[in-house]
Amino acid sequence: MDRTLEIKNLHVSVVDKESVNTKEILKGVDLTVKTGEVHAIMGPNGTGKSTLAGTIMGHYKYAVTEGEILLDGEDVTSMTVDERSRKGIFLAMQYPNEISGVTNSDFIKTAMQARLPEGEHIKLFKFIKEMESAVKDLKMNEDLPHRYLNEGFSGGERKRNEILQMKLLKPNFAILDEIDSGLDVDALKIVGENVDKMRGDNFGAIVITHYQRLLDYIKPDYVHIMMDGRIVMTGGQELIEKIDANGYDWIKEELGIVTPINTTPRVSLGSCAINTKNKEGNK
Ligand code: ADP
Ligand code: MG
Repeated sequence: MDRTLEIKNLHVSVVDKESVNTKEILKGVDLTVKTGEVHAIMGPNGTGKSTLAGTIMGHYKYAVTEGEILLDGEDVTSMTVDERSRKGIFLAMQYPNEISGVTNSDFIKTAMQARLPEGEHIKLFKFIKEMESAVKDLKMNEDLPHRYLNEGFSGGERKRNEILQMKLLKPNFAILDEIDSGLDVDALKIVGENVDKMRGDNFGAIVITHYQRLLDYIKPDYVHIMMDGRIVMTGGQELIEKIDANGYDWIKEELGIVTPINTTPRVSLGSCAINTKNKEGNK
């Protein structure tokens, strides 16, 4: 069955640690993802990509001030992370947390168990087999399932581990936040290919990345450019190459976000100031 994740006019604020003021990060994001589709989100640092990812998953630090997140038409905006996870949403975080005292396999088993209808239990033997095969697919160390979650994991191991969780949990919607950062070329290939293998009628993804290389493995159907808390441009794969070669400044210029250097401004400040003054004077 086709499923739809719909983000409508999403406004999100965070509490600024230093000033205790709230700061609006997302300023009206619209995005619709259906199962079977892969959407890439690119954009400069600090534009709100991780905020969008965390908000879709329901992270506590993000406050939705306007708009909604709908899953098959049902508003999930006030649901907990667990509820959203049970409904099939998964987030691979940019900075995965350590959880001491909980092994990797226990963590995944608990998450899988939570998704089963009441009274049903995970078949342990099947789980172990699946876990072993996913560990092999991702070329991870055999001891990884038995270690505490992310404790002492290298950056690359953490990222691979997020994909391991995704493979076992089989979400309908996965949000992958800079899953390629900190990966060497070989690991990038392994991660990219494993994500690509998930593609199918029951899987939709939002892939946040800065680089073309990951998207060579997971070819997106749509590419969105995010700037200053909004999606300012949507296109196809041609956008990826353009950004790789030219960065983001051309988009700002095209959209009139900044006036390009060495061109005549359309309205000169001087005349504005004079007009205002005259108006005031004529009152
Ligand atoms: P991106 O992932 O696109 O690099 P983020 O979503 O991580 O951007 O951050 C967007 C903006 O929100 C940044 O300016 C960042 O400094 C700010 N921000 C994120 N979290 C907090 C927080 N807890 N307190 C204050 N500002 C925050
Ligand atoms: Mg980020």
